[in-house]
Amino acid sequence: MKEYLKHHEWQIIEEGLNPHYNMVSESVFSIGNGRMGQRANFEEEYSGETLRGSYVAGVYYPDKTRVGWWKNGYPEYFAKVLNAPSWIGIRVSVNNQKLDLAKCKVEDFKRILDMKLGLLSRSFSATFPDGKTIRVESKRFCSMAQGEIGAIRYAITPMNFSSKATLSIYVDADVVNKDSNYDEKFWEEVNKEASEGRAIVTAQTKKTLFHVTTGMCYSILSGGKKVNFDRVNIEQREKFAGNVIQLNLQEGKELVVYKYAAVLSSENHPKESLVAHCNKVLDKAMAAGFDKLFEEHAKVWTHKWEECDITIEGDVAAQQGIRFNIFQLTQTYTGEDERLNIGPKGFTGEKYGGSTYWDTEAYCIPFYLSTAEQKVARNLLVYRYKHLPKAIENAKKLGFKDGAAFYPFVTMNGEECHNEWEITFEEIHRTSAMAYAIRDYIDYTGDEAYLIEYGLEVLIGISRFWAQRVNWSADKNKYVILGVTGPNEYENNVNNNWYTNYLGAWTLRYTQKAIDYVKNADSKRFGEIITKVNFKENVETAKWMEIVEKMYYPEDPKRGVILQQDGFLDKELLRVSDLKPEDRPINQKWSWDRILRSCFIKQADVLQGIYLFGDDFDMESIRKNFDFYEPMTVHESSLSPCVHAILASKLGYKERAYEFYLRTARLDLDDYNNDTEDGCHITSMAGTWMSLVKGFGGMRVKDGKLHFNPFIPDKWKSYSFRIEFRSRVIKVKVSIEGVQTILEAGAPIEIILKEESVMLEG
Ligand code: BGC
Repeated sequence: MKEYLKHHEWQIIEEGLNPHYNMVSESVFSIGNGRMGQRANFEEEYSGETLRGSYVAGVYYPDKTRVGWWKNGYPEYFAKVLNAPSWIGIRVSVNNQKLDLAKCKVEDFKRILDMKLGLLSRSFSATFPDGKTIRVESKRFCSMAQGEIGAIRYAITPMNFSSKATLSIYVDADVVNKDSNYDEKFWEEVNKEASEGRAIVTAQTKKTLFHVTTGMCYSILSGGKKVNFDRVNIEQREKFAGNVIQLNLQEGKELVVYKYAAVLSSENHPKESLVAHCNKVLDKAMAAGFDKLFEEHAKVWTHKWEECDITIEGDVAAQQGIRFNIFQLTQTYTGEDERLNIGPKGFTGEKYGGSTYWDTEAYCIPFYLSTAEQKVARNLLVYRYKHLPKAIENAKKLGFKDGAAFYPFVTMNGEECHNEWEITFEEIHRTSAMAYAIRDYIDYTGDEAYLIEYGLEVLIGISRFWAQRVNWSADKNKYVILGVTGPNEYENNVNNNWYTNYLGAWTLRYTQKAIDYVKNADSKRFGEIITKVNFKENVETAKWMEIVEKMYYPEDPKRGVILQQDGFLDKELLRVSDLKPEDRPINQKWSWDRILRSCFIKQADVLQGIYLFGDDFDMESIRKNFDFYEPMTVHESSLSPCVHAILASKLGYKERAYEFYLRTARLDLDDYNNDTEDGCHITSMAGTWMSLVKGFGGMRVKDGKLHFNPFIPDKWKSYSFRIEFRSRVIKVKVSIEGVQTILEAGAPIEIILKEESVMLEG
């Protein structure tokens, strides 16, 4: 755990240069706007440890799969989020000495991410080997108001000298992905142009042929006036274009570079007009200027915070943590473009490739359902609807038939891009995350018509998969599901993972309900769906119901607990507290076979099921299962502690709930898992939000009504959150004195507060 960042309610603050943590900071201080994002790399060159990363939403590359031992059914390509052309570069040299913080003496280094305004600032004094010192203050943002614009204010003051200096201001498409399988470069140049004051490079991804045009223009001022340059040279080489400017620095006089960038992709513009558009965007940015662009950007943030801020009084670390999570989620996905999704690392790193995991359905949708307009969560569901044909193809490749749909574990365009057999083939529960999300969405919004338009087709496809994936066990006289990996990836190829069996059977039941609904509500459309998917209703549903009735669920009646899978009790049942500190995290310290044989659980598994289907279990059985599984859970997935926080809250284990909450809320800020340098854990940030709202706030929807059952952690004086629910905005404030529920917008509504009905009126 690293605790080098200062606690502050609205800002993330790093004081002093920490070269060892630089890559962690680059992730944490990342900025984005849903269309593009940028790690907090330095504008100037840096020869220390760094992962330079710029990302453009929706632009990916199918990297040829690399595995030691090929297995039939593996996808041939692994679609990767691409490290895209960089727009931030400003090189500085004084007297032929490069400004490089790894080589200069650095003092007063400060990096601040202002979450309220979406602004990254950095300041420092750097002394060159010849003793000359400059002070640099930089600010930058990716405009939330105009998604294709980024802007930088880079101010240099010579502290103890006057001298000639060189600035190189450029765009660079000669970038690599750290995780490239064959060290291949993914970008090729299409064209470039540079003139005095401007440079534009268009690069194309190999195979996918996306075009990204990255342009920049700048102005340089001193004392508010344009600076006269000695000389401007055009600098061009392959995939690179910029200007090199010779000028004079005067002791004590600040020189400010305003650099405006335009990042456009062929996903949003015809290829042939990208450059023309880029020029227009640059003209617009330059005409508006940094301050005006910033003002409109900050306004969007103000509005966003009004919608989804959570306040915590009495605990700055917790307040900073929750805001950081909300900030990152908001700048990763705005919900405006239904082709996009939420990658586990968002725009903060490369790891994990792909963009979409079951994380979206199981973790992110609840966040967007409550904090954004209904259409945002709906768009996320429609994204999967559009991938249905690919999910059917994916199932076909693995030997399933008749329209069975097997959604990929990781995807960019609907195709599977994960290639570890135990996950690709075995972690099959993910296909039903899509079904669960449909129910979650409908429960929350009441928009049952979604089933008519899109939902039912998806549910039928997934149910067909389960009907073919189960098999009849003559020995058990039950249906079983063999050879799977549950959410707990520290068990592979197990039989009858309870979570998987439960979710499979639930999907079949829910699909039957959905069929009944659509048939009644819109028989014409039902007829169309039947024909489209060639549905043999009676035969298929009869089989589904038989499976539901005769599904096998492993359990231990003696202890009164569900069993994670067949044979779980044969394990040596140790507790995490039995592990030595040097054994942790076990995924870095133990051999894989040792992990598999142990009882230790990577992430919520049985407890994930109990969380998702909370109403199916009484308190006593939730308690028994929690008390049994929690002590064995190592939480080596960031998706885990939030589920435990919600269940601990429900059980009244207040302190435990608070501990789990802190662990998710500050996961990246304190680099708990020692992996933030690869990027932030964006999807689990939605889990942090859930721990607070669904955990501490006890929010859930039952029979169309909102329920709250709040408590307040001992360390806090109060907390408040706001949610959107069925055209209402409801604010909940929980303090030591009590709970306030306020209807801030919309028609009166009945809610259930601590089991009692309360009418909220504006
Ligand atoms: C977890 C998965 C998750 C993935 C991406 C893995 O460590 O075990 O459940 O989907 O990370 O977040």
